[in-house]
Amino acid sequence: MIKQRNITLIVVHCTASRCTSNLTPEALDSMHKRQGFVECGYHYYITKDGTIHHMRDITHIGAHAKGFNTPSIGVAYEGGLNAAGRADDTRTDAQKQSLEILLRFLLLTYPGAKICGHRDLSPDLNHNGTIEPCEYIKQCPCFDAATEYLYLVES
Ligand SMILES: [Zn+2]
Repeated sequence: MIKQRNITLIVVHCTASRCTSNLTPEALDSMHKRQGFVECGYHYYITKDGTIHHMRDITHIGAHAKGFNTPSIGVAYEGGLNAAGRADDTRTDAQKQSLEILLRFLLLTYPGAKICGHRDLSPDLNHNGTIEPCEYIKQCPCFDAATEYLYLVES
């Protein structure tokens, strides 16, 4: 395992897509590239079936949490909006299992790192001109990641 960055934070996101639609890793990658990123802004992406997709090398700084990208890793799950398009914890059981496995793995690699949800980072409003994928939804990741995974950090 290569660890060239000093990682102190793992940020959980949702894609703000409806649980009734599908967003493939390829589509997510294209979406972010259209927004001007060189590659997908997240490092890992967990689709509804629970598959963990490696999107951006973890040795590269991500583009997922303005002001917090340098010391962090970005993990996103597919969904976050219910069928009606409202913010909701739409994680499937498979996604919950995979997210926990991935977070455990990352904490082993980067001991001492904290886990939080994107919304916990109070997006800075300095209007620096960068449009980030997750700013579309302030509730991201639509559940309380810091509280739910506190036991992983403390164990
Ligand atoms: Zn986000």
